[in-house]
Amino acid sequence: MSNEFDVVVIGAGPGGYVCAIKAAQLGLKVACVEKNETLGGTCLNIGCIPSKALLHASEVFHVAKNKGSALGFKSTSVEVDLPVMMKHKDKTVDELTKGIAFLFKKNNVTAFFGIGGLTKEGEVSVRLNGGKTEILKAKNIVIATGSDSAPLPGVETDEKIIVTSTGALKLESVPKKMIVIGGGVIGLEMASVWSRLGSKVTVIEYADRILPGMDTEISTAFKKIMEKQGVEFKTSTKVLSVVKQGKGAVVSAKSLHNADETIEETADIVLLSIGRTPYTANLGLENLSIPVDARGRVEIDAQFRTVQKNVYAIGDAVRGPMLAHKAEDEGVAVAEIIAGQHPHIDYNAIPNVIYTWPEVASVGATEEELKQQGISYKIGKFPFAANGRAKATLNADGFVKILSDKQTDRILGAHIIGPDAGTMINQIAMAIEFKASAEDVARVCHAHPTTAEAMKEASMAAAFGKAIHA
Ligand code: FAD
Repeated sequence: MSNEFDVVVIGAGPGGYVCAIKAAQLGLKVACVEKNETLGGTCLNIGCIPSKALLHASEVFHVAKNKGSALGFKSTSVEVDLPVMMKHKDKTVDELTKGIAFLFKKNNVTAFFGIGGLTKEGEVSVRLNGGKTEILKAKNIVIATGSDSAPLPGVETDEKIIVTSTGALKLESVPKKMIVIGGGVIGLEMASVWSRLGSKVTVIEYADRILPGMDTEISTAFKKIMEKQGVEFKTSTKVLSVVKQGKGAVVSAKSLHNADETIEETADIVLLSIGRTPYTANLGLENLSIPVDARGRVEIDAQFRTVQKNVYAIGDAVRGPMLAHKAEDEGVAVAEIIAGQHPHIDYNAIPNVIYTWPEVASVGATEEELKQQGISYKIGKFPFAANGRAKATLNADGFVKILSDKQTDRILGAHIIGPDAGTMINQIAMAIEFKASAEDVARVCHAHPTTAEAMKEASMAAAFGKAIHA
């Protein structure tokens, strides 16, 4: 087999594997290099998929335990069987990662399992997992090496007691007490899982609110919902140290508002989830003088090109939101650019979802961003308490908030807390892509009874000042 390729992709996460498949579909000869034993990257192995498997299982447990009496069935003896729950998660991951291997075969993408490195122009070396080194000639190289959990100076994770999300996804027992450092998406999803399964969870967040990048009204309302579910929050709080002690760890922290207020709390498990950093270790960027920015992200232009003309970079390794679907879209775009096409990604239309229950989802601008940019806007809101389907399923917490331009009514942003928010938000992403107005969405016939009707109603409220059912 010749080791000459049109495209060599380094990294088989959602950015890399999608890029490889798309490039092959466009008629290019493609190789994809992956250092792990399985394909799919962070997303399939230790991220999106295993977390959603546990979120679903723990939510079903929570519903069976807590909502049964209201729905008319007795469910007092429901118990957690953690090994089986973990088996379900592992099976899901196993099937999906094997699915990528199948797609590689189907599309004639050659996989190399080993550490890929840039050696010189047009060449990628692969330190194969068996020890040998393979040299691949590449007309184009795509860096899709993803990201890793961000460290907190002075805090050493062991994935047993002081864990990152990777350890939090494979705990062997339900901790009595868990401290989550970081009130971002991953921290809150893990807080939800373990709190539903019986842990007393405290989330410590440095900023003055959880989900700092989200619309303030949404993050405030969501914090209240999570508090109602039993999760405790300490915002404006800086963690000073985490020290292992006995079978747990002690977290010391101080309030940012009151220097005298220090906190010392012991937990069985401490989850460090303060964000993710681009992963470019052992990549050999220096061999091709490819720079990274202050946050370690590979620098690229609008066409995803690094300073080297035929070396591209995508996904978590570059600027922009660290999301699987963003990485996938960039993978497709780069494959198309290499094939001579002219794709475009609207970064304003990339949805962001937190898969708790209720789910939280947003796309486009927040109110704070519109204020900052001096854009006049209208707000249309609709509560799930007035949505028939949400009421019937005991999922009436939350609301939809549509922001549209005051003059043109064009939709600028949407923010949802509620059942199926993560599925619904795609509708508004499409509306933003098509430059639709709130009235456009309000006039689309929505099936009844669905939770998506709340979006139609919120759009009516934005377009006409009034919803029908509220
Ligand atoms: P990755 O998925 O990180 O893949 C990079 C791959 O490159 C890895 O497999 C790595 O082993 C490989 N690699 C690195 N260096 C080399 C090298 N030198 N040689 C060979 N291979 C190399 N995003 C969402 O959109 N939705 C979610 O619900 C969601 N949930 C998440 C939950 C958790 C717990 C975590 C941690 C992340 C979650 N994310 C979610 C984020 C999502 O996983 C990432 O945004 C996405 O995986 C990024 O894709 P990528 O292809 O850029 O990188």
